[in-house]
This record gives sequence, structure tokens and C-alpha cells, in this order.
Amino acid sequence: MPRIPVFAANWKMHKTVLETVAWIREFAALSKALSADAAEIIVAPPFTAIAAAAETARTATVCVAGQNLHFEREGAFTGEVSGAMLKDAGADFVIIGHSERRRLFGDTDAWVNRKLIAARLAELTPIVCIGETLEERERGETLAVLDRQLKSGLDGSSGDQIASLILAYEPVWAIGTGKNATAAEAGEAHTHIRKRLREWFGGAHGDRCRILYGGSVKPENIRELIGLEDVDGALVGGASLEARSFAAIVQNAQ
Ligand code: PEP
Repeated sequence: MPRIPVFAANWKMHKTVLETVAWIREFAALSKALSADAAEIIVAPPFTAIAAAAETARTATVCVAGQNLHFEREGAFTGEVSGAMLKDAGADFVIIGHSERRRLFGDTDAWVNRKLIAARLAELTPIVCIGETLEERERGETLAVLDRQLKSGLDGSSGDQIASLILAYEPVWAIGTGKNATAAEAGEAHTHIRKRLREWFGGAHGDRCRILYGGSVKPENIRELIGLEDVDGALVGGASLEARSFAAIVQNAQ
């Protein structure tokens, strides 16, 4: 079964409700010719704009994701949002373990795993981010770091759950820096991740999981990245803030 490519826009802490609605309308107008079989489009606005995004996206072929969730359903967790709340607001996906969450807010592999379980309970499709820092790459630890993040983050997952999961390989040194991984670097990481998924969760399940590349993706470099066998789309930060450049990324990947 072919893997439908996924293009996900991670807006981080950008955009008001009005800006969110305008972006989705502009993107929909720019990508009218895009069929749902050609690519799945996901936007991850800030929590405050999820409901408006979901409402606007109904008439566009765009799905909505949260950028994070708490693993408890409810409770005394000031400032946090649960999977059930994201679902209630209209999200169908959620990003888990983004490197900014890991680096700035202390998300650990164990927390990623708890959030993954919580996402599934809330019927949200998880988009789990993994990737090495520059220091880890320079020490030759890239593949070991990916193994550790995959093993702990995905612990307890069934083959079927892996098949429906979205992973994002995001080398931390490439996020927001303008410096993307070369095709050789991305290819090595993606092939390794696929190999591990096949070994640990079964060949058929590992083959169905979509693995996105993230890190300074732009309209100019997507074609080379998407041409790699195990790259099934992109998670895009900076270049997704303008509907026009995100639409160009999706277009150039076709
Ligand atoms: C991201 O935030 O996941 C990301 C990949 O950012 P950027 O595209 O700006 O590097």
C-alpha cells in the first residue's frame, strides 16, 4: 500500500485566530488542484486558534493538529491542555516531543511515551518528533540517539499503532537554522528509522508508518528530500508561516 505523503505546518507561537483563518483560506485557494490522495495537509496552530482552524478547515482539505498535549485527561496542571481538549476543539493530530519541547520545557522520552498513550486515548493521531543535537552528531551518536528515542518513546506500541503513527526525523541543528540535512544525512537517518520499525514492530507495520523530515525545509530543497525512499513528507516550521511558501513546498514535492 503506498504511503500518502504528509506535509505538516508547525506554526509554533505564531498567529492569531484571524491570521489562522486567513492562512487556511489562502492555502486552500492556492492548492485547489491538490487531490487528497496526493498529499495529506496538517496545520498546527497555537491552542487558541485550533477551534477556528478546525472550523475553517472543514471546507478545505486541511487537518488540524495540536503542538503538544498533557498526558493526563484533566487535573491541577496550570497552563496545560489535554488530548481530550484538543479533540474537543477540533484537532485530529498532535505533535509530541518536538525538540523545542524537549530542550526548553523538559519533555523526556518517558513523557513522550505517556503523551503518545494519551493521544491515542483521545483518538488523536500522534506526530512523534525525534532527532539528534549537533553535539550528538559530532560525537557519532546520531543512530544511537534515534534508537533510544524510538525505543523509549514508542514503548508498548502495537504493530497496528505503529502503522498509523507519523514520525518526524528532525535533526535539532537543522531546526530554524536555515541549514537542512543533506540528502545523504537525511537518507541515512530515515533508512535507519524504517529498519528499526520493521525489526521491532514487524515489516508490514514498519512499512506503513510515515516518516517526515523536518529542519529548514523550503520550496527550494523539498524536491531532493522527498525523492528519498523513506521520506514521506515534511514537518515545516519557518517556511510554513506564509501560505504561499507552504503551498510551494507541497507543490514542488508532487
Ligand atoms: C520545526 O519546528 O519542526 C521545524 C522543522 O522548523 P523549521 O522548518 O523552521 O526548521
